[in-house]
Amino acid sequence: MNWIDNPKCIKCGYPFPADLDLGGAPLCPTCASGKCELDWIRSACVYDDASRSAMLPFKHGGRVQYANFMSRAMIWALRDINVDVDVVMPVPLANRRLFKRGYNQATLLARPIAKVLGINIDIDSVRRIHRPDMGHKNARERAENIHGVFSVVCPDKIRGKRILLVDDVMTTGATFSELRRVLMRAGASAVYGVTFCRVVRAI
Ligand SMILES: [Zn+2]
Repeated sequence: MNWIDNPKCIKCGYPFPADLDLGGAPLCPTCASGKCELDWIRSACVYDDASRSAMLPFKHGGRVQYANFMSRAMIWALRDINVDVDVVMPVPLANRRLFKRGYNQATLLARPIAKVLGINIDIDSVRRIHRPDMGHKNARERAENIHGVFSVVCPDKIRGKRILLVDDVMTTGATFSELRRVLMRAGASAVYGVTFCRVVRAI
């Protein structure tokens, strides 16, 4: 795996070249311009052939036992963060996909993370409606496709809460961004994210 170490963006965790000295609190151009999807995001490794070889069997092949090392890696990814959150929330899966797959891979990752952090997990305050797969769409199309799929069904459990979202992969950040919008509208006070891997585009 291509593990993400320092230096990285202090907000979104974007990895910089190892020999690049950016001072104490480096920000990537996206976060420097105030466009970070969440209050902070951390990922354990880069989305590439190596991480994909673990992710795909885990997500689509029933290799649920992979959640063990993947969640441990995600806890490692949070090592330099003061994780001051109230609730851990896996990114919801639409019921249709949940029944087909039999499990939400994000929930499998979120449970051990919540346990280690000693924080409650919330798997039912937000619902997701089914939309056909996003395929290889670009960032704008992904954002349009995800818009409006989430709804808060238990606002009492969201209001005033600092929420750590958990997912297997961050691609463009569109899912996190949309979920944050819905959670903040329901009164959440902060929304953070942790994923096993993330797509790293050249910036
Ligand atoms: Zn950043």
